[in-house]
Amino acid sequence: MMSREEGWKNVLAEIELTTSRASFITWFQETAIADIAEGVVTVSVPNGFAKNWLQDKYHKMILRCLRGLLGDTREVAYVVGTLDRPLSQMRPKARSLPKPVFMAPQERLELREGAVDSESGLNQRYLFENFVVGSFNELPHVAAQAVVKNPGLTYNPLFIYGGVGLGKTHLIQAIGNELLRQRPEIKVRYIPSEKFMGEIVDAINTRTMSQLKERYRNVDLLMMDDIQFIARTEKMQEEFFHAFNALYERNKQIVISSDKPPAAIPTLESRLRTRFEGGMIADIGEPDFETRLAILKTKLRIKNLALPDDVVEYVAGTVKSNIRELEGALNRLLLRATMTASPPDIEEAKRILAQVSGAPKRFISPKKIIRTVDEFYDITEKELVHRSRKKEIVRPRQIAMYLLREELKCSFPFIGEKLGKKDHTTAIHAYKKILADLSAHPELENEMKNLREKIYSPPV
Ligand code: ADP
Ligand code: MG
Repeated sequence: MMSREEGWKNVLAEIELTTSRASFITWFQETAIADIAEGVVTVSVPNGFAKNWLQDKYHKMILRCLRGLLGDTREVAYVVGTLDRPLSQMRPKARSLPKPVFMAPQERLELREGAVDSESGLNQRYLFENFVVGSFNELPHVAAQAVVKNPGLTYNPLFIYGGVGLGKTHLIQAIGNELLRQRPEIKVRYIPSEKFMGEIVDAINTRTMSQLKERYRNVDLLMMDDIQFIARTEKMQEEFFHAFNALYERNKQIVISSDKPPAAIPTLESRLRTRFEGGMIADIGEPDFETRLAILKTKLRIKNLALPDDVVEYVAGTVKSNIRELEGALNRLLLRATMTASPPDIEEAKRILAQVSGAPKRFISPKKIIRTVDEFYDITEKELVHRSRKKEIVRPRQIAMYLLREELKCSFPFIGEKLGKKDHTTAIHAYKKILADLSAHPELENEMKNLREKIYSPPV
């Protein structure tokens, strides 16, 4: 008769085969069989989030594995609770993890970027294995894996969008790295769209456009990162459009990332937009607290390092904006820990994180937006918030309305009320007007960018 630990260990071994190492560590660490009675196996999990995740995503697989191993399993129940047989005791590597006491060999703290392959443009460190999957990025992750299984066929193009630092580059490069690993003979090319633009300009200057065209038409997988920049000029869109068609017609896979969905990229030509919308569009959302915690723990585990629990929780609770900053905060703490050969305690962690710019995002108020718009267009607040219909006032007011909506997600009735006691239809109209102008006049983007910089800059 197999012991509980052994039974669970076997289940885990099977599950590990079907999921990435990072996800496996994230969702299955610290799980154990708590009880087996009358055909019901009770699995203990460390928190409610893991419980939901196992229930929703892995239940069938767990049940199937348990049945295969134990025979008469009718049901699986999950309980949040302390574990008497944590996974860490079964994995030799994890077992040697130091408790919060920190002893990090210097060489582990490789803050350097991985090597970039000049032929493919890929960075070796972006892999599926170290990509944590949670509900915020599950769809794009599944789509990316489908692309690896069936390049050019299932989802073509695959269009992934989301805010900065949320894993777009990591995920699209993971597709390239994985495909190359499986089929070293294929040609893949990763390129950020700004770099693509640079190449085109160079090619025009050196009259090597036809070689450049060749280069892009001969790949099996093209990954174009941050495509929103390409929409700024017609020439780039034109070149990309032709490359896209040449690849698409031959069932070559195209993967695209962007900070917004195709329909929201101002000045994106409709012929490109329809192409993009003809494939799969998946967005990466923002990880919640539990997921941020899971990501930090995974990164620590992959590095085989530790920090006190309350410090890790503090980081997860404070650095909310994105995963890049989360990683940066963690690295800073680890660096400090190696320098002083002891882990920072919570107070020290607070100090360290407060020193850097990526500390809690500045809170801005509607007032700050209104004031910035006033200054920017050199009008008085009174003019802006009152009912003036002068053209030189109406326009900034619309822009202020747009920014209140975009930056603070204010409701339209609130916006109307704040700016000239108008009703919500005026605010909606203003918002749409600016949206339309943004797509018709690219230079307005710059104006917005300047405004945003001013809005978020600290008061002087
Ligand atoms: P984006 O391209 O969306 O701006 P990146 O792909 O550059 O974001 O991700 C920022 C950093 O966060 C990278 O170091 C990346 O490895 C890391 N990262 C992003 N998403 C994940 C994830 N799901 N799991 C682990 N690390 C991640
Ligand atoms: Mg990126």
